[in-house]
Amino acid sequence: MSQQQISFEERMAHSEFRVHERAHIVVDGKVCAECSTTECVTACPANLFVPTAAGGIVFNYEQCFECGTCYLVCNKEGAISWSYPEGGHGIVFQRT
Ligand code: SF4
Ligand code: SF4
Repeated sequence: MSQQQISFEERMAHSEFRVHERAHIVVDGKVCAECSTTECVTACPANLFVPTAAGGIVFNYEQCFECGTCYLVCNKEGAISWSYPEGGHGIVFQRT
């Protein structure tokens, strides 16, 4: 059986984020300020890591896909504390 290909935009249009008040990913800005490679910025498919003019990183967890890519690509000890959202929260992918 062939699998239907859908675009990122189509997938997003059929996704829902049930945001919990507690962030499931926490980024330590002090560690990021020492980072010159910022792999997270290009690797995050949701573009949730945004570089600032001051050389830091702004991160928002609300529209996270829970893919784990940021945790894999970041090689700075302690920069990212990663976990899944509490039960019943986070992204909900719906059938298209
Ligand atoms: S999260 Fe990791 S890769 Fe991204 S800016 Fe911080 S230290 Fe660098
Ligand atoms: S888990 Fe994936 S979507 Fe969420 S912040 Fe990390 S790279 Fe971005």
